[in-house]
Amino acid sequence: MKTVRTVAELRAELAEPRRAGRRIGLVPTMGSFHEGHLSLMRRAREDCSVVVVSLFVNPTQFGPGEDLDTYPRDEARDAALAEAEGVDLLFAPPTSEVYPEGFDVVVRVRGLSGVLCGAPDRRGPDHFDGVTTVVAKLFNMVAPDVAYFGQKDAQQSVVIGRMVRDLDIPVRIEVCPTVRESDGLAMSSRNAYLSDEERRRALALHGALEAADAVVARGERDASVVLAAARAEFDSSDVEPEYLELRSATDLAPVEQVNGSTVLAVAARVGRTRLIDNKVLGETP
Ligand code: AMP
Repeated sequence: MKTVRTVAELRAELAEPRRAGRRIGLVPTMGSFHEGHLSLMRRAREDCSVVVVSLFVNPTQFGPGEDLDTYPRDEARDAALAEAEGVDLLFAPPTSEVYPEGFDVVVRVRGLSGVLCGAPDRRGPDHFDGVTTVVAKLFNMVAPDVAYFGQKDAQQSVVIGRMVRDLDIPVRIEVCPTVRESDGLAMSSRNAYLSDEERRRALALHGALEAADAVVARGERDASVVLAAARAEFDSSDVEPEYLELRSATDLAPVEQVNGSTVLAVAARVGRTRLIDNKVLGETP
């Protein structure tokens, strides 16, 4: 595996495989790899003949007071893990390579970026502006045939899908299942912030998703009843959800009735750590 830091080096590495018509896969990440990231790399390795992983802690998707400065970073460990997954290229640019002096563009997916995590009293739409802008740049830098994202960040995947559709970016988006710890906690780089006690409380998110799913599996379709089951799970914990919402998994529209493509999305602060999780309800596991 080779690590490259500039767009010029990246393009030079990809020129020959692209000429040869080899399929290029991209896994965008902010590093601090866990099994969730590695599952995306494995999927890319199965599907593509060239696998590029980008490692960039993107400052524009962090709000003031968020964890940009403390976000866990360990490039040497990440490089070893990516290499073990058979990744061909690690693209780890410095911030100045991605945002040169005078950088002045925002890519915004308007409606979808302003709900759930993007609501004004939460992270706000600027968060997803940061995500879509950097992902649009990564797509232009790498020009991948396929890009891999995790269902863990369900809204992010929907927002990026809409950006790609609306801007006619020639890339196929693959959304891969959420990887969980054995007790159900969704893997996240931010789990490293949790104390032992917070780690136990964090299970409330998965518990709520499972409670809702159990109600749906029994045939319930009324959104308010399904939400009440999830809410009851939080009430018996000491975690207060920031939001708990049932939405269409394809366009994030609010739903009254649960069908095969309804996602229950949740965010909650556990101590100082903000966690998100979601589950598409009524699916066979
Ligand atoms: P991040 O480094 O947190 O920006 O995540 C990079 C990619 O990994 C995103 O597409 C995430 O959705 C995905 N990802 C993060 N955690 C998980 C997980 N537990 N399971 C599957 N994918 C994940």
